Amino acid sequence: CNPVAGQRPESWLQEKVTREVIEGMAEFELDNNTLKKTMVLFLDNIERGLKKETHESSIVKCFPTYVQDLPNGTEKGKFLALDLGGTNFRVLMVELDVGKCDLKSEVYAIPQEFMVGTGVQLFDHIASCLADFTKKQGIQDEKLPLGFTFSFPLVQKGLRSGLLVRWTKGFNIPEVIGTDVVQWLTEAITRRGDVQIDICAVLNDTTGTLMSCAWKNPECRIGLIIGTGHNGCYLETQANAELFDEPDMGSGKVIINLEAAAFGDDGCLDDLRTDIDKQIDNDSINPGKQVYEKLISGMYLGELVRIYTLKFIKNGIIFGGQYVDIFEKKEIFETSYISDIEADPEGSYAKTSETLKILGITDASEQDMINLRFICQAISKRSAYLTAATACVLTRKVNEPKIVIGIDGSVYKYHPYFRDHMMEKMTELIDSDYEFNLMLSEDGSGRGAALVAAMAAMRAKQ
Ligand code: BGC
Ligand code: MG
Repeated sequence: CNPVAGQRPESWLQEKVTREVIEGMAEFELDNNTLKKTMVLFLDNIERGLKKETHESSIVKCFPTYVQDLPNGTEKGKFLALDLGGTNFRVLMVELDVGKCDLKSEVYAIPQEFMVGTGVQLFDHIASCLADFTKKQGIQDEKLPLGFTFSFPLVQKGLRSGLLVRWTKGFNIPEVIGTDVVQWLTEAITRRGDVQIDICAVLNDTTGTLMSCAWKNPECRIGLIIGTGHNGCYLETQANAELFDEPDMGSGKVIINLEAAAFGDDGCLDDLRTDIDKQIDNDSINPGKQVYEKLISGMYLGELVRIYTLKFIKNGIIFGGQYVDIFEKKEIFETSYISDIEADPEGSYAKTSETLKILGITDASEQDMINLRFICQAISKRSAYLTAATACVLTRKVNEPKIVIGIDGSVYKYHPYFRDHMMEKMTELIDSDYEFNLMLSEDGSGRGAALVAAMAAMRAKQ
């Protein structure tokens, strides 16, 4: 859905937007100096997170993942994968062979009450979806290796063990915190007794993304998610990863799950957060936590648009002061609307008016639609620029002449200009001769989980 090159909206849009809207959104403009300061802070966080001495006090945790190798393309076999932690919960069957990766998957809903209920409720539900899937695929009697993509912060004790640090993205089941999520899953499967599974690995979605992109492109060293949540991982030298306590299996490397979303939880980004960023944080189920994620990810961007638009409505600047009631409804403005609205080419308002219709607004003027688009653009661009800054830090950290960054997540995937904004900003900020590229990950959580499981199975046989 990438629009024609050379038709970037900034210039024509800027000329048409109402002055008050430009002024009201100015706090979203981050100049390169501010971004460079953010990069310095981020690097300092990573360095403290990696070191034993400073890890405890560091906000960006840099957890070692126990994945020491990137795939080499020889991974083979049939695997199951679970993908929990984004907008959808999925069960997948992945068949790997040289140069081939066949994938079957099914999306299952997680009832809202299970996201904030008990551990048994959630994991019994996951196990029942798994059972349903294996029956549908006719593989209920095969004991397949499974990779569990669990996209929340884990302190890993090995490839198949991870203690939950905290829930994020709308989940909150306190009794699971501090316990091993693989254990919960194993027990839920055992309680059912009708599925044969060999859980080989638990991994973060960023790791899955890096693995699946590296399978296609051996220059990939970094994985990013810009979806419901935000995070990054990269391939680090074991000697720098002081918390990593396993013997080197030969590569001298290990993937680090940054848990980048927590960047700013100590207040270091407060200068660039707006009052409304702070309000969204206060109203969330985890105030003060995941500060960086709340500036970047899909769970929050739609809310930012809603609240800023509401402010302009109340000042009579947009929609003739009407529709306060609509924009007062929490979460009514979905993040996907931002991508839809910004996808309209110059002079067309087809998608914008469709979106407004969904909200119950049919009499918006052209000026209203221009202003709304500008609000969306200011918010999505800030997200892209911040992500670009983080990506530059990781690119320099990896320190190889050519680096590919694998990226997954609904915001990156569906926004028409997110990639362009990131490329442009990274080119300005990188300040070195690195050649970098951004690669869209397809089904990273599923393929990546299968790859990690495959490599673990191969190693077990050696
Ligand atoms: C979680 C990360 C995850 C990211 C993207 C964050 O909220 O803490 O573990 O990788 O979301 O899904
Ligand atoms: Mg996902």
